Amino acid sequence: MRVLMLGTGAALIDPDRNHSSILLTVRGENYLFDCGHNATRQMVANGVDPTTVKAIFLSHLHFDHIADFSYHMISTWMAGRQAPPTVVGPRDTQEFVDHSLIDGAYAKDIEARVQYRQRQDNYDVLRPPVIEAEPGLVYEDDLVRVTACHVEHIPEEISPCFGLRMDTADGESVVFSGDTAPCDRLVDLAQDCDLLIHECTFPQTAIDFRSKAGIGTWAHTSPLEFGRIAAESGTKAAVATHFGHFDTCNPVLRKLMAKHMPVEMVGPEMMEEVLGDIRRNYRKTLYLAKDGMRIDV
Ligand SMILES: [Zn+2]
Ligand SMILES: [Zn+2]
Repeated sequence: MRVLMLGTGAALIDPDRNHSSILLTVRGENYLFDCGHNATRQMVANGVDPTTVKAIFLSHLHFDHIADFSYHMISTWMAGRQAPPTVVGPRDTQEFVDHSLIDGAYAKDIEARVQYRQRQDNYDVLRPPVIEAEPGLVYEDDLVRVTACHVEHIPEEISPCFGLRMDTADGESVVFSGDTAPCDRLVDLAQDCDLLIHECTFPQTAIDFRSKAGIGTWAHTSPLEFGRIAAESGTKAAVATHFGHFDTCNPVLRKLMAKHMPVEMVGPEMMEEVLGDIRRNYRKTLYLAKDGMRIDV
C-alpha cells in the first residue's frame, strides 16, 4: 500500500499546508481519507488521476475535511469519470452530499453543463452512493476492509466523528485518527497496525497559552499525547499531521495565529518542540507530515 499525504494542515488559510486529505493506493486502486480543500489538485500535482478514486471516507463534517468534495465531484465528472465513488461518512453525510451537488449549491452550474451531450453520458456520477456509517465495519471490497470508531472531537449530538482503519487483503493496515482529543477507542482501533496517522494539531506552548487566556479546551491531541498514543497502539510507524499552522512563515497567517499562540514563537523551529515532546513517549519510526509526502506500507 502507498500512502500519499495530500493535505496536512488544519482549518486556517495556509499556503503551505492544504486541508486534511490522505490518498491510500492498494494494488492500483485509490481510496481517499478526507477531502479537504485542494485534495483534487494535490492528486493531479502528484501524478494521480482523480477520476479513479473508488471510495471517499469522511472522518467528520468539519469543513477542513470536506471542502473539496463538490470540486472533486464536478471536476472529475467533467474529466469523464465513469463510475461514482462510494462516499462513507457520519450521520448527515447524505444531506451534505445532496446540498453540495445537483440538489444544492451547484444546481445551476450542473444544469448548464449537462446541456452538452458529452456531460449527459456520465451524469450519474453526480449522485454517488452514500453510506452513513456506524462504528464497526463501514466498507468492504475485494482489496480492503475499512472499520471505524467514534473519536472525541465534535459533541456527538451535533455530529459524530470517526477514526478509520483500512486493512488490505495483503495484510497491511493503516489507521487515521481524524480530529480527536486523546481517545482510548482510537488506541484500540490502531492496535498493532503498520502505520498510525494521527492528528497533532497544537504544540504544548499553544495549548498552555490558550488555557491561560481562558479560551476553552481543545478537542485535539498534543505532541506529548500523540507520543503516548503511538506507543500504546503498538504501531510500527506513526505520522503526525493536521498541524495547526504553527510552523508558518507567511506574514498574513502569522497574524491570524496570534489568537492561538505567542506570535513570536510561530515558525518552522516550533517543529523542534513538537518533535521533542513526541519523542518523550515514542521511539519508533516517525514522520512529521508535509504535503506531498509518500510512505510505503
Ligand atoms: Zn480538522
Ligand atoms: Zn475537526
